[in-house]
Amino acid sequence: MKTVKEASPDNSSTTALGESARVLAPSDGMTPFEAATFFFHQSADRLGLRDDMREVLSTTYRELAVQVPLRMDDGRMVVLRGYRIQHNGARGPYKGGVRYHESADLDEVRALAALMTWKNALIDVPFGGAKGGVQCEPGLLSRGELERLTRRFTDMISYIIGVTRDIPAPDMGTNAQVMAWMMDAYGKKNGYSPGIVTGKPVELGGSPGREEATGRGVVICAREVAKRKAVNFEGARVVIQGFGNVGYWTAKLGAEMGVTVVGVSDVGGGVYNDKGLDLVALEGHLEDSLSLADFSGAESVTNEELLELECDILIPAAVHGVINTGNAGDIKAPIIVEAANGPTTPAADEMLNERGVTIVPDILANAGGVTVSYFEWVQNIQHFTWDVDQVNLQLEKRMTRATDEVFAAAAGGQSLRRAAFDISVKRVAHAAELRGYV
Ligand code: NAD
Repeated sequence: MKTVKEASPDNSSTTALGESARVLAPSDGMTPFEAATFFFHQSADRLGLRDDMREVLSTTYRELAVQVPLRMDDGRMVVLRGYRIQHNGARGPYKGGVRYHESADLDEVRALAALMTWKNALIDVPFGGAKGGVQCEPGLLSRGELERLTRRFTDMISYIIGVTRDIPAPDMGTNAQVMAWMMDAYGKKNGYSPGIVTGKPVELGGSPGREEATGRGVVICAREVAKRKAVNFEGARVVIQGFGNVGYWTAKLGAEMGVTVVGVSDVGGGVYNDKGLDLVALEGHLEDSLSLADFSGAESVTNEELLELECDILIPAAVHGVINTGNAGDIKAPIIVEAANGPTTPAADEMLNERGVTIVPDILANAGGVTVSYFEWVQNIQHFTWDVDQVNLQLEKRMTRATDEVFAAAAGGQSLRRAAFDISVKRVAHAAELRGYV
């Protein structure tokens, strides 16, 4: 591949690169985009990527920042900030979720867009990487406010999205209903376009199996890794941080496959039961309560304590940066499966690698969602539906294939994250070269 040059002693990775491509030392203080770019640069070094290609792949292609004026139910107008960022489109239309969260600023959305590029290449779906976000607290908004916010945001980004250009999906703080509003708002101007978003309700052209797909992919990955690490998956003790879409389905499907879920948490704290949590009772509890922490069938733990519990598999499924140098030395799980995006800081990643902890990186572990989003998009553009068995079978095939590839690339002893990034960066660089980007 011509993007790769011979390594030479003066071939500094920072030579002739822009500020955004600067290589930093790993630390907890890195911003999410610096952290994502750090893993990319490590890979670019190993692959001996040429400086011009390195610059293209370490920066974003297009960034749209928009004002999102929102009329509140009480008549006030608040002005929120929204973003749609396209990182790299060499392998296909841009694809990535939309996050409604207070931390969703330009840097975080950039990081998530870059991770989508690497994830889509690793799972081998024909998409580039993108992400969107609106900086807000969705839990404080009424249904009407959420709908108005979504419609306005969709209008503001409609210039750069499209069925064959850029296809949003749900992420933290958004769900199938939000996708339904996005599809409706876009369709009003552009005609019926179910393929404009994925993760829609099935009634509107969504795919069966999409809602649980990220969790199902996490469980498949965990099972495959356990097999190779001689951990008996049936009966494995699992701790999950985050009990939203991804955490909930990971717990539910994991339990169906025989794991014992001993701890879970949400933003308000967690619960732990050494003998295994009664997930049915927990679900019942959440029908009447907004918080997991007051569930009576278990001991309360803080989110910090939860990460350090004795278990076989730890699954962070909430926010970025929760595993850092402050707790990496105290994590007891021998296997971490990153269901969240960016839960481990680069500095903690190095500490855990040195301690021999196996980390399944986010770009592999949570790729099940975008995989079924791809199936949904394919169904939409072909106007032909699949049944759930076919969706799950194809998801299983792609997740196990990608996991096999990552383990094969890591056979020389490097970490799964490094192996995964090397596969992805090579694929994207090759596509960019074929297109003539550099
Ligand atoms: P969600 O909004 O449905 O749920 C988020 C969960 O995390 C909630 O239980 C919330 O209470 C908890 N949480 C929020 N802040 C927290 C904190 N500071 N500490 C502990 N818990 C906290 O979101 P989701 O869709 O389940 O996404 C979770 C993670 O998975 C995110 O990192 C997201 O980017 C990633 N992800 C999601 C998908 C998807 O298909 N939804 C796909 C790939 C990756």
